[in-house]
Amino acid sequence: MSSEFELIHRHFTRPTAHTDLAVGDDAALMRPRPGMQLAVSTDMLVAGTHFFPDTDPHDLGWKTLAVNLSDLAAMGAEPRWAFLGLTLPGADEAWLAAFSAGLFACASRYGVDLAGGDTTRGPLTLSITILGELPAGKAITRAGGHTGDDIWVSGQPGLAALGLAALQHRIDLGPTGREHCIRALQHPTPRVELGLALRGIANAMLDVSDGLLGDLGHILERSDCGAEIDIALLPLAELRATGADEAQARRALLAGGDDYELLFCAPADRRDTVLKIAHEQGIALHRIGRLTGHPRQLMLRETDGRLLYPMLSGYDHFA
Ligand code: ADP
Ligand code: MG
Repeated sequence: MSSEFELIHRHFTRPTAHTDLAVGDDAALMRPRPGMQLAVSTDMLVAGTHFFPDTDPHDLGWKTLAVNLSDLAAMGAEPRWAFLGLTLPGADEAWLAAFSAGLFACASRYGVDLAGGDTTRGPLTLSITILGELPAGKAITRAGGHTGDDIWVSGQPGLAALGLAALQHRIDLGPTGREHCIRALQHPTPRVELGLALRGIANAMLDVSDGLLGDLGHILERSDCGAEIDIALLPLAELRATGADEAQARRALLAGGDDYELLFCAPADRRDTVLKIAHEQGIALHRIGRLTGHPRQLMLRETDGRLLYPMLSGYDHFA
């Protein structure tokens, strides 16, 4: 059985690229580059609430960092440093080796130094504090949306929710569809480069973690706008192709959690620019509606033109 210090040394101490003093002292030392503002965010993953305790530890290491990177992406910030709070039921060396390999795979892909953390014993909980940089004043917040802006979403929202439903035996997908959806749930791609490219283009942005409509509600609230979503514009084909029926596909796309796609609002005259970014980055960007001048009112336009008024509720741990 190794000590806490051996464990930290073995699994969480790696060379850093841009940290003056990282793991091993009482505090880390780092310098933001001149003219840059820090963007800081914390996200926790609790076993049994956010993931199944038997989740593959390599995937879990990746996802723990990826969901935090997604928050920085949603501000248009460049990720730089992470701190890892780890609560472990015991020191399972094989589990820790795989977890840290997954975490560092994600860290090196996105240029993040693990600069410190804390390790305690208890029910499995993973917490990351992430720090990123952006030119001062250039953050893309939830509050900048304007009436008439297009509403866009990246990638394929809904896959992760179908993956979760498949793991919980609530839905029957074809074997290929099942694998595709579970992969989306367990190995999300944080849209870091997209977030950076949207600086100066998107007026408002967030990452979709608790369901698209519920999260859109946060933009409506902060930007004092309404929204009209056009069902005919929703990217449903790939969800249908997994074997989900129409109702399951729509619910997964509009209300499913764990997507970590970016939802953003941009002026209609920037459409070509947004599509150019999509092309350059090889990411699908879907224009799904527009902001309206009716504060906090969300409308869905059915394919036959009828208007529906859904509830704006995402996942709430205490509801
Ligand atoms: P202290 O007792 O002074 O708070 P700790 O023993 O908690 O220090 O941590 C020692 C060093 O190891 C610190 O630099 C801390 O940032 C780092 N550390 C502890 N746990 C982790 C972890 N899970 N991941 C990365 N660094 C860690
Ligand atoms: Mg100390």
